[in-house]
Amino acid sequence: MYEGAIQDLIDELGRLPGVGPKSAQRIAFHVLSADPADVTRLATALRRAKELVRFCTVCYNVAESEQCRVCRDPRRTEEVLCVVEEPKDVVAIERTGEFRGRYHVLGGAINPLEGVGPDNLRIRELLVRLGTGSVRELILATDPNTEGEATATYLALMVKPMGISVTRLASGLPVGGDLEYADEITLGRAFEGRRAV
Ligand SMILES: [Zn+2]
Repeated sequence: MYEGAIQDLIDELGRLPGVGPKSAQRIAFHVLSADPADVTRLATALRRAKELVRFCTVCYNVAESEQCRVCRDPRRTEEVLCVVEEPKDVVAIERTGEFRGRYHVLGGAINPLEGVGPDNLRIRELLVRLGTGSVRELILATDPNTEGEATATYLALMVKPMGISVTRLASGLPVGGDLEYADEITLGRAFEGRRAV
């Protein structure tokens, strides 16, 4: 539609999740009319995030050092481990202020249609962590949709023989949705009312 740099920008923006062609065009023209200092700050933030952010070597949450903020916090109990799909779920749960344990980020959910099986997730790493013996309760906080439920069922089968109590967040979360879209109060209640599986 356009030529050169502006079309390149629209194309790149359009590849981002949730950005359709119209939004891409709107953002691109916003950038053209924006203060150069603002655009430089955006470009720097993009580059710095890619350069500096990595995954925690313990739980696979996003981190700026070897371990993430949660894993570095000695006040958090190692007895309760909460399994989530993505780092954004850690943020959602932290917002509730209900949880004082640790996390394990799987990196997705089992989804046979998209070719994602247990081996593509950080399940082996989870089992290694559980093998150290300090975890008493494993909370399965995968998304309340088909893939999340399948993942929770799979993990419960793997972990229960290890003698660890396995719980799932209480109902009340919007079915079929993403954990990150639940409001703090609903998610907090789901945490308090978690049940054994
Ligand atoms: Zn961590």
